[in-house]
Amino acid sequence: MTATAGPSNEHGHGTEPSATFTTLYGAEPHGVWAAPGRVNLIGEYTDFNDGFVMPLALPHTARAAVAPRTDGVLRLYSTDVPGGVVSLRVDELAPHSGHGWAAYPAGVVWALRAAGHPVTGADIALTSTVPTGAGLSSSAALETVTALALDDLFHLGLSGPELAVIGRRAENDFVGVPCGIMDQMASACCTEGHALHLDTRDLTLRQVPFDLAAQGLTLLVVDTRVKHALGDGAYAERRAGCEEGARLLGIPTLRDLPYGDLPRALATLAGAGADESVVRYVRHVVTDNQRVEQVIALLDAGEVRAAGPVLNEGHRSLRDDLRVSCPELDLAVAAAQEAGALGARMTGGGFGGSAIVLAEAAEADAVAGAVTKAFAAAGHAAPGIFAAVPSAGARRLG
Ligand code: ADP
Ligand code: MG
Repeated sequence: MTATAGPSNEHGHGTEPSATFTTLYGAEPHGVWAAPGRVNLIGEYTDFNDGFVMPLALPHTARAAVAPRTDGVLRLYSTDVPGGVVSLRVDELAPHSGHGWAAYPAGVVWALRAAGHPVTGADIALTSTVPTGAGLSSSAALETVTALALDDLFHLGLSGPELAVIGRRAENDFVGVPCGIMDQMASACCTEGHALHLDTRDLTLRQVPFDLAAQGLTLLVVDTRVKHALGDGAYAERRAGCEEGARLLGIPTLRDLPYGDLPRALATLAGAGADESVVRYVRHVVTDNQRVEQVIALLDAGEVRAAGPVLNEGHRSLRDDLRVSCPELDLAVAAAQEAGALGARMTGGGFGGSAIVLAEAAEADAVAGAVTKAFAAAGHAAPGIFAAVPSAGARRLG
């Protein structure tokens, strides 16, 4: 397809990190690893409620050329940010101590060491084709590629879910971003041609076949290229509201509310004097968990097209109940729907970032064109649009 791809979408053509490594550090790396960004098909704001999510890995990856060190020195470099090599000592790493972008890989080293793993230093050169801040998990890609490389080099023998837990710990406790486990699990555990059904309560997972091409379908990602400042506070507020809802209902998490009990639970909340926002948040989380199960059943039955209306309903719920959408996301979704898409919804945390659009492959260009035209007509900068081909999770490249 001929979408409006910007430089960030030229996946697979980023700077080769081995050459960068050698130039910087004057030696050969011991290996090169890759970990992808992700897009979530369905199940939003469910992962901190012990619920279900269903991400797929993108072809866009973070790649790391790495060599281990034994002297406690950690050197980090990214081709994608200015500022040169960041040099740290592993025994001086402390949560919330800054370091800008380098806090993501440094946090992984800190989390591994905090878990008792003997990581004694490393030289790392990173490069990534995952668009940053677009809700496509460039941060988790960075964490996961670092964790996998160190796991290999220090022979730690960690599983994909264990690497994901390390990555989340780095992001939550070292960088200080309160994300759930979905992003790191997707980057570590997704496989080509599949979406990942993840139960965030116990990290059990299933690879659900999602062969779009064989079905004559395309899943577009529309990066709105906006990120509204509102996002951070709103995430914390939604999270607190969900916890309040569970507390008032006397259940550990919203995951523990059976779908059939939702109407009665909403009445209970209203009767208990819950804020009307809490009622809406509970309705979103419980129905979105249900939508994950609906989509899985449809994919298993080979009825991918029928997932379209479920995506549409997911957007309505995020827009009206959780209220985490924004004008640009609503416009992308509406324009795609009007242009004949099978389904569309915002994906990720909202307040900007990306939307996904399920369309007939033969109509994908027309749908992408309609979205781009609608953005121009509304005076927005052109969105970045590309096809999300379900790709491999973290792996060693060489
Ligand atoms: P998202 O994960 O949705 O892309 P985040 O705000 O969680 O957005 O993470 C983006 C941050 O991750 C960037 O601001 C930067 O600090 C870091 N990051 C991502 N990719 C890279 C990269 N290639 N090089 C350096 N830092 C990166
Ligand atoms: Mg992130």
